[in-house]
Amino acid sequence: SNCTVLVTGGAGFVGSHACKALSRRGFTPVVYDNLSYGHEDAVRWGPLERGDILDRTRLDEVIATHHPAAIMHFAAFIAVGESVTDPGKYYRNNVAGSLGLMEAARDHGISAFVFSSTAAVYGLPEVVPIPESAPKLPINPYGHSKWMVECMLRDFGEAHGLKSMALRYFNAAGADPDCETGERHDPETHLIPLALDAAAGVGKPLTVFGEDYDTPDGTCIRDYIHVADLAEAHVAALQALLGGADSNAYNLGTGNGFTVRQVIDAVEKVTGRAVPHSIGPRRPGDPAALVADPSAANRDLGWRPRISDLDSIVATAWAWHQKVNG
Ligand code: UDP
Repeated sequence: SNCTVLVTGGAGFVGSHACKALSRRGFTPVVYDNLSYGHEDAVRWGPLERGDILDRTRLDEVIATHHPAAIMHFAAFIAVGESVTDPGKYYRNNVAGSLGLMEAARDHGISAFVFSSTAAVYGLPEVVPIPESAPKLPINPYGHSKWMVECMLRDFGEAHGLKSMALRYFNAAGADPDCETGERHDPETHLIPLALDAAAGVGKPLTVFGEDYDTPDGTCIRDYIHVADLAEAHVAALQALLGGADSNAYNLGTGNGFTVRQVIDAVEKVTGRAVPHSIGPRRPGDPAALVADPSAANRDLGWRPRISDLDSIVATAWAWHQKVNG
């Protein structure tokens, strides 16, 4: 059987871990990435085809060469703040780029599509933990762009039989336990890598964005999910689609939230170093708490997080941080 999967954005953080998970399960990941943010040396589990998702000619060429049975689509811009100041960049790449990719899937008879979505589709949720049925009211162009693609996938499913799984990540974190790939964003904006930078003394002291939230210690609560667990969920979603499952959307989180202070404590414990930090103002658009209800993915995909306890997340991220920073 044909086990080739086209992985857009496969040179990036979640995409590279997904490639490793795919290859362990007997799939061949063909990475399609323009390397604008991805890293060529993160492509280790299959070929790299350099290309832009907005380049339909190049996409057709790569699909005609490799005949993938499915697409996993990670290629997207992810900086929420930048999406507010430069929305065109996000709607062009994330929405128009995804549309071209879906049209290519349709035209080449590829009927399985796994999409990298986000908890940002929920905006400021009223109910926590958040079920998939919660209102989709994104509060920034990044979140809108992801929700628009989910809507387009639903319509392509109805019209063309393109079956899809939209996976809504909560806070992706950690690194490959074998240290073969990990998080390398530039600029880095995420809490755990910034806290590790501060602990290692390679970055500025951490600024905690607000300590006056209605949470036990006043800092924001997030649901951190290990990137290797995310990767396994993508393979499970793909296998479900290939096995005849209907299109659906799933939250990927643990169902447990941790405050920023709890994350700092975990980083200090795991690294054995202090995390220099100060308290700053709230970051615009940050909800007090974002926690998944991940029960649907457990029920339908048989998926559950295995190494997403905070210590494992921080320990794997720290090992990767030390490898990258020497
Ligand atoms: N955060 C922080 N200081 C930072 C970066 C993040 O206090 O320098 C907080 C942020 O307000 C949020 C949590 O850490 O409550 C996780 O933020 P991150 O940017 O990692 O992920 P997001 O929740 O935005 O997807």
